[in-house]
Amino acid sequence: SYDIAIVGAGHAGAQAAICLRQMGFEGTIGLIGDESFPPYERPPLSKEYLAGDKPFDRILLRPEAFWTERRIDLQLGKRVTAVDPVAHSLTLSGGASVGYGKLIWATGGTPRMLDCQGSNARNVFAVRTRADVDKIMARMETTQSVAIIGGGYIGLEAAAVMRKLGKQVTLIEALDRVLSRVAGPALSAFFEEEHRAHGVDLRTGYTVDHIETDDSGHAVAVQCGNGERIAADMIIVGIGIIAQTGPLISAGAAGGNGVDVDEFCRTSLPHVYAIGDCAAHANAFANDRVIRLESVQNANDQAKVAAAHILDQAQAYNAIPWFWSNQYDLRLQTVGLSVDYDQELVRGDPASRSFSVVYLRGGKVIALDCVNATKDYVQGRKAILDAIPLDLEQLADASVPIKEVGH
Ligand code: FAD
Repeated sequence: SYDIAIVGAGHAGAQAAICLRQMGFEGTIGLIGDESFPPYERPPLSKEYLAGDKPFDRILLRPEAFWTERRIDLQLGKRVTAVDPVAHSLTLSGGASVGYGKLIWATGGTPRMLDCQGSNARNVFAVRTRADVDKIMARMETTQSVAIIGGGYIGLEAAAVMRKLGKQVTLIEALDRVLSRVAGPALSAFFEEEHRAHGVDLRTGYTVDHIETDDSGHAVAVQCGNGERIAADMIIVGIGIIAQTGPLISAGAAGGNGVDVDEFCRTSLPHVYAIGDCAAHANAFANDRVIRLESVQNANDQAKVAAAHILDQAQAYNAIPWFWSNQYDLRLQTVGLSVDYDQELVRGDPASRSFSVVYLRGGKVIALDCVNATKDYVQGRKAILDAIPLDLEQLADASVPIKEVGH
């Protein structure tokens, strides 16, 4: 039995354990995760790790010895299958049970996969865990062509890495532009042009009908809804995640797309918190909409909020969202959320490969996508927090630093 049990040893779970110790908690902590590796950074999985530029030991969140030194009981390769909120206990796969005083649920999500014919073929891969990426890397040498399904950040980052490694890449996106879920048309158009310039065969508005397999059960092509056939030695699917909330919802926690939490990351079950990708929360930077945020920022900040609440140092969650993506030599930095924006303004010339897209709502800056433009990112963050309407003409003029734009 643990004073505090944390389920999920990813970004959020690991950070919660770290925060609890930093804040002086002396009781027992169990960090239970179903992957067999100690907590590691997920972002490099579609970037430096996939490219072979960073070995696994360089993406560990902490050196292995850290967990023992801090008396955090790391239980790897263990899956929690049930939660009993009355008895305060967890059931692990295999049947063992573990008691808890407080529970922090930090299970992230599982990749959504295609559900069409052929989608289970051995060379159809997701990019969520180290195990996923190791499988991709093990086939790298014998792979000439890759079909990537999904034009979100993970698909685009994987495309950039695969081009760098000399693979032939086709990227298939069902909607009419890439990044449509997270960014406006200007940023999408820029990245589409970049990927095409780097040799990616980008097909927007293409749906997948099924995956064609050979006699040995290997995928050999994507059959598109429009009848076109895209041959590939490997297929990578990046079409989003499904929050891993089963045991908690079965135990009676409120939720749908994720587990519902309040501003202290409390679920509807007593003594049970949820944080990270799986936590549905009302976010002030999303026009108070209830969202799940899939970012390292959110995982870390919600971990802090849950830990603080448990230790009677409550502070409501209101961190400004930020995110990044690396593709080719482009560094995208995003701050704020463009949810419900009513105006999109481009600062600088995308052709120069250093520019920003500013999103406004009611004349106020609510988010920026900054490409190779760190100054805009830093100063734009302050503009979001200030929430004062700015002079749009000056804001669109990249020669005027954002911090000097008039009201
Ligand atoms: P996770 O890190 O997914 O951790 C959850 C853990 O819980 C997993 O290990 C899972 O296996 C385990 N688990 C699930 N169910 C159970 C169970 N029942 N019992 C035990 N264990 C369980 N964010 C950024 O901000 N910037 C980026 O550039 C970026 N790039 C990314 C690239 C990739 C390829 C991926 C996959 C994600 C990226 N993200 C990025 C998102 C970021 O990694 C996630 O938001 C973050 O990992 C969320 O942390 P989490 O702890 O909520 O979930």
